[in-house]
Amino acid sequence: MVSVSLSWHKLRKRIHLLCFLAFLALPFLNVVRFDIPKERFYFAGYELWISEFAIIFFALMFLMFLVVASSVFYGRVFCGYMCPQMIFSEASVALETWLRKRVTRKFAQWKPPVRERVARGLFYAVLAVASVVLAFIFICYFVEPRDLWRRLASLDIHTAAGISGAAVTLIAFLDFTLVRQRFCTTVCPYGYLQGLLGDGNTLLVQYRDETHACIECKKCVRVCPMEIDIRDSPFQIECIHCAECVDACEEVMTRLKKPTLIHYAWGEKGELLSDTSPRPWYRRVGLRDGKRVVVLGVLLFYASGLFVALGMRRAVLVQIAPVRATLYRIGPDGRIYNQFRYRIANRGGKPGAVVFSIRQLPGASLGMAPNPVRVKPGESLAGDFEISRPPGRRDELVSHFTILTNTVPDGESDAIPMTFLAPTESK
Ligand code: SF4
Ligand code: SF4
Repeated sequence: MVSVSLSWHKLRKRIHLLCFLAFLALPFLNVVRFDIPKERFYFAGYELWISEFAIIFFALMFLMFLVVASSVFYGRVFCGYMCPQMIFSEASVALETWLRKRVTRKFAQWKPPVRERVARGLFYAVLAVASVVLAFIFICYFVEPRDLWRRLASLDIHTAAGISGAAVTLIAFLDFTLVRQRFCTTVCPYGYLQGLLGDGNTLLVQYRDETHACIECKKCVRVCPMEIDIRDSPFQIECIHCAECVDACEEVMTRLKKPTLIHYAWGEKGELLSDTSPRPWYRRVGLRDGKRVVVLGVLLFYASGLFVALGMRRAVLVQIAPVRATLYRIGPDGRIYNQFRYRIANRGGKPGAVVFSIRQLPGASLGMAPNPVRVKPGESLAGDFEISRPPGRRDELVSHFTILTNTVPDGESDAIPMTFLAPTESK
């Protein structure tokens, strides 16, 4: 007898587990997190400030084109294999079925309606706790986890985070008890978007039965989480390309020693994914026409832009500007003073310090205390300082000079061009 392989189901459940663990871990490891109260975007461990527009732009465009590329190449595999809504919907269905079976087995002497009520009550209780946990993790994508934990521990439902947590808990509970996979065909726009992005070379799940070998067992329909019949069309909006029907038909037809009738295929007319005939590697992975080369090129462009922008990023940002409300002042000692303002932002995770000095302004002195200016992680500082010099000659009414900044721990130096103004009459 030919061995039966349930590979897609097993693979899908393993990927579901990995995605669930990733969903739990991402906000805690700051891999992707948008901290609304702090106005920070965390990406791949970097703490990005809202002002770092280039990096945030490249990161968002990269993520967006990743979704586009995955849809053009592989259709709705994201829905079937990685979408949290699908993962939790299937888990809630599995939990409900398991509890019903356990209660029936354990309390066989009870009347069926009583068993049903007990199973339902248990299911709602477990799901209520799970909804609190899921809501907590979800809000952690937008609020610092320790801060959120403090609010949860004090049962805070007065602040925005507390109200959001309570609302998301309720939505999660209702979603995974009542809506589940119906969300995919009613609320979620991704299925409709797929219709625009897919074409004749996109991977899909298809029923092919040229020899009319189908035995009408309908196992493919019974296992479908979306409750559709793949034999009607490979383009049904409900189909999430999960391949449960592929496994089901393979199991049935293998018993009959016949080839399976449902497959992953590269488009309606393209070859099957399982086709082992010799083909270049790039066709095997889905790189099948110019459109896909362009999509991949755009994705690589944004990935490179993001890589370069992150590489050029400095943890400590220093800005200096002259304060021209008063052009200059003359001190009791006769020296001429100009005022300047600095802004320092430490966007890194370590304490930093900035050392200021001046160049190309003979006789000048820098009136700044303290110098270096120390700045804690995540802190923004602003302050004024003065530069003074002896009275100038007429040809030195405007002097061009440089303020040097040396930053620790970046070890970066910046030479910032600046002008010094003196009175129009020499003293
Ligand atoms: S599982 Fe296969 S044989 Fe059975 S109804 Fe579906 S397509 Fe036909
Ligand atoms: S038709 Fe097949 S691939 Fe589509 S959702 Fe149902 S089981 Fe999954």
